[in-house]
Amino acid sequence: MIGTIVKSTGNWYMVRREDALPDAPVVACRIKGKFKLRQFKLTNPVAVGDRVVIAVEPGQETALITEILPRRNYVARQSPSRKHSLHLLAANIDQAILIVTLREPNVKLGFVDRFLLTTEPHDIPTVIVFNKIDIHHEAENEYLTHMKSIYSDIGYTLLETSAATGAGLEEFKAVLHNKTTLVAGHSGVGKSTLVNAIQPQLTLRTSEISDYSGKGQHTTTFAELYELSFGGRIIDTPGIKELAFIELTPREVAHNFKEIFVSSAACKYQDCQHINEPFCAVKADVQRGHISETRYQNYLNIIGEIAELNNWEIHKGGF
Ligand code: GDP
Ligand code: ZN
Repeated sequence: MIGTIVKSTGNWYMVRREDALPDAPVVACRIKGKFKLRQFKLTNPVAVGDRVVIAVEPGQETALITEILPRRNYVARQSPSRKHSLHLLAANIDQAILIVTLREPNVKLGFVDRFLLTTEPHDIPTVIVFNKIDIHHEAENEYLTHMKSIYSDIGYTLLETSAATGAGLEEFKAVLHNKTTLVAGHSGVGKSTLVNAIQPQLTLRTSEISDYSGKGQHTTTFAELYELSFGGRIIDTPGIKELAFIELTPREVAHNFKEIFVSSAACKYQDCQHINEPFCAVKADVQRGHISETRYQNYLNIIGEIAELNNWEIHKGGF
């Protein structure tokens, strides 16, 4: 029988059977074998949102996952504990929402770009929600205007909300309606409060749980899928602290900074990495102010990190 993974807790995966009534209990399942994604080891073989074939174990209430059905897409991140492994955050989603705040806590611009780099390679539409606008001062409002101009120019949707005053909640709800949405954000940005405001009684419970593997103590993060009564599903992911990328090549990073990709068509050299090659259209666009300086700097930081992790020489001194 076929079902969808709605929660993962270490070695157990909770599966909602497609043939079961909505309030039927989920089936606790296990999976055997080693799994890879592209050439990378996975810290979790299946993700919330994955559709799987399960076989109930005779005489038991638990089941075995015998097959993972092809994924429409997925969001993965470099495992925080094992740098050369990937961790699947969710699969088969229609869109992602990143919730950020400019105060309490204040977001680093670099984090927004990093998050977009987890969704952009899979063409997953991403909405950036600025929550807690009720506590903005003049400085935050100015910064928000600046961010809006950067990100809406590139083609992202931005929303402003306040779970405290109710501002923007109807728009937030409308974005979620009838879609499967991955919801992410640093902890403390108000993700639970926001979701609760549009869907009372829904208490997000994702948490970071420490588990013990033979190699030492580390933190594992678990996601969970919830049905929305007004239509739609959200996949709540635990507060993400930082994002790094082992699985992308510098070229893929450049392709997934949308505006860098567009502008790179005019670079003289096909393999231009837009660092300090001559006749680089991307650098020219940064100098002209057509590409945001901070976005470009984040691009450089990310490709620098990837090169370092892979022990690649990066062209620092020009060509
Ligand atoms: P989560 O970790 O992202 O789920 O954050 P919570 O929903 O637990 O919220 C963290 C804190 O921010 C709580 O004290 C909330 O009451 C507060 N909070 C959430 N949304 C807003 C908002 O829009 N405005 C203000 N002023 N506080 C908020
Ligand atoms: Zn270039």
